[in-house]
This record gives sequence, C-alpha cells and structure tokens, in this order.
Amino acid sequence: MLHFIKPLFLLFFFFSITAGNAQNEAYSDAAESQISDTTFVKLRDYSNDFVYDMKYATEDNFLKAKVYDCAECMLRLKTVKALIAANNDFLKKGFRIKLYDCYRPLDIQKRMWAIVSNPSYVADPKKGSIHNRGGAVDISLVDITGKEVDMGTSFDFFGIQASHNFKQLSKEILSKRAYLKSTMIKNGFNSFDSEWWHYNLKTGLKDKVANEKWKCD
Ligand SMILES: [Zn+2]
Repeated sequence: MLHFIKPLFLLFFFFSITAGNAQNEAYSDAAESQISDTTFVKLRDYSNDFVYDMKYATEDNFLKAKVYDCAECMLRLKTVKALIAANNDFLKKGFRIKLYDCYRPLDIQKRMWAIVSNPSYVADPKKGSIHNRGGAVDISLVDITGKEVDMGTSFDFFGIQASHNFKQLSKEILSKRAYLKSTMIKNGFNSFDSEWWHYNLKTGLKDKVANEKWKCD
C-alpha cells in the first residue's frame, strides 16, 4: 500500500506546485492541462476533416521553390481549436476547409519578401506575419465531392481581383467569398482585405514570431 501512496502523493505535490489551480482536477486531465493554448501543434493530430494542399511544400507557388520539407499544418493550439470549429460549421453545409498554408517559419517569410516586397501581399519579415506567429491560415473550400470552390482567383494571386473589395465577379463567387469570410469571423478570425484566402486568429496577433521547422515523418 505504501508503494502506491507515496508516488501518488508526490504526483499530487508536483501538480500542486506546477499546475496551481488545476490541483483538484483528475490526474488524467492534469497532463492535458500542461499544454497551453499557445503551444505549437500539428492540426492532423486533432482532426482528419481537412484537405491539405500545402503549396510551399511543392514548387507550385510564387517562389517556384519547395521550401517546406513536407506538407504539414502547424499552428498554435488556440488557432487549431478555432479552425476546427469553423470547419465543423462548413461541414454542416457540405463543405470543408482546404489548407494552403499555416504556420510559416520566419526564414521562409524572408524569402517571400525578397521576391514580393509589397506589404499588401507579403508581410515585412522585420515585423513578422501572423503566419510566423502560428495564428494565420491560407484556406479555401472544397464541396462534398472534393471539388474546389471557385473563389475567382488562384491562391497567392497578386492582384486586385483577389481583394474582398473587388466586386466585378459573378454573384456565385462573391457569395462563396462572403460565406467563407462570415464563417471564419464567427469563429474568431479576422479577414485580410487584399487576400480572400488569408485569415488571422484575433487573439493571435501578439504571439511571438517563431522560426522553428516541424519534423517530417
Ligand atoms: Zn496568408
């Protein structure tokens, strides 16, 4: 009996001093409470309901270079939670989110800025993008058959046609952009005027810029 009590007591003591207000929670919940909302996690570990088309893990992007070793979507945990909530709303209507980019290491931001030094389209690495902070996503929608919804331009189209304010598009396209935007805003994101695909988590604007790369399997 003593063998059992002693480690349990030590465990309780450990969580009392490290987790503070979590000391009354069940032990099984204690480990989970150690993960803060700002921890970087892989979206894949929390949901299988997304479509991945990570453009910077291919040469099909404006850099014309594969700058990620593998197609992974890393974000801070709070961004993952909000994104899953948004995706659940889309799923109810027969759509799901397709991902083009998530967290982006600062070194990649520098390469992008060197090619397109225009803050309307690429954030200056001196300030850092919300992508570099783990709070931004570049997304579109696919329908129930897996077909990509027509949003009027391709991802990373550097022109006025990609703007939310550009209205010379079909009613269908304008309504799909508006649907994407309103659902994301409802779930805690801000839109970005010049790019229909870009969304920032409202509570992610002041997190630290990071430059770590994720591990590939
Ligand atoms: Zn973006």
